Amino acid sequence: MKIILLGAPFSGKGTLARNIMKDFNIVQISTGDLFRENIKNGTKIGLEAKSYMDKGELVPDTVTIKMLEARLKEKDCKNGFILDGFPRSIPQAEALKKITDIDTVIELDVPLDEIKRRCVGRRICSKCGEIYNTSSYDKSTCSKCGAPLFQRDDDNLETITLRLEVYEKTTAPLINFYADKLYVAKGSQKGPEETYKPVKNFLMGLKK
Ligand code: ADP
Ligand code: ZN
Repeated sequence: MKIILLGAPFSGKGTLARNIMKDFNIVQISTGDLFRENIKNGTKIGLEAKSYMDKGELVPDTVTIKMLEARLKEKDCKNGFILDGFPRSIPQAEALKKITDIDTVIELDVPLDEIKRRCVGRRICSKCGEIYNTSSYDKSTCSKCGAPLFQRDDDNLETITLRLEVYEKTTAPLINFYADKLYVAKGSQKGPEETYKPVKNFLMGLKK
C-alpha cells in the first residue's frame, strides 16, 4: 500500500504514520527526518537543507525530490510506504506522479488553536523516535526505551508561524489536487489512539 499523509505541522502526522507502519508492515518515509539525519551526518544535503529548515521555509525541490526518489528505490519500500511530509507542494506532487502511483491520501485535520497549543511542548525520543508533549508527559526520558528526549531546533514560536503559513499557502492546495484519493481524518481531542481507529478501519477496507 502506498499512502500520502497530509496535515499541518503538529497535526500528528508522525504519530499516525508510526501507528500505520506497525499494523500494515510498511515503512514511514518522513522527508523532515531524512533531512535531520543528513544534518546530523554532516552530508551535502544536510548542509543545503539546514538554513531553510531553521527559518521554517521549504528546502528547494531540486534537493528534496532527488533525496526522496533515492529513498523510494531502497528495498524496504517494496511492500509500500507512508509518505509523511512529502509532497508539500503541487510541483512536488507532479514530480511524485512520475516516480510512482499512490493508493490513498489521508488528510489529518486539526484545528489551528490546537496546533498552536502543541507547538512548543513537542519532545522527541533521541533513540526510538517516540513523540511526546509536555502537556501530557513531562519527563525528560522516553517511557518506551529510556533514552533522553530532545526538542527540535525549529520547534519555536517564530518558526512555527512561518511553517503554518507555508502549509496554508503551498501544501493545502494538495487537498484538491488529490480530491479523488482523499480520506479526511479528524484529529481527536482524546489523543492519537482515537485518531488512528477510523483510519485503521479505512485502510483495512482498502486492503481487501
Ligand atoms: P513538520 O511537519 O512538523 O513541519 P517536518 O519534519 O516534516 O516537520 O519538516 C521540517 C522541515 O523540513 C520543514 O519545515 C522544511 O524546511 C523541511 N522539509 C520537510 N519535508 C519537505 C519537503 N517535502 N519539501 C521541502 N522541505 C521539506
Ligand atoms: Zn524511546
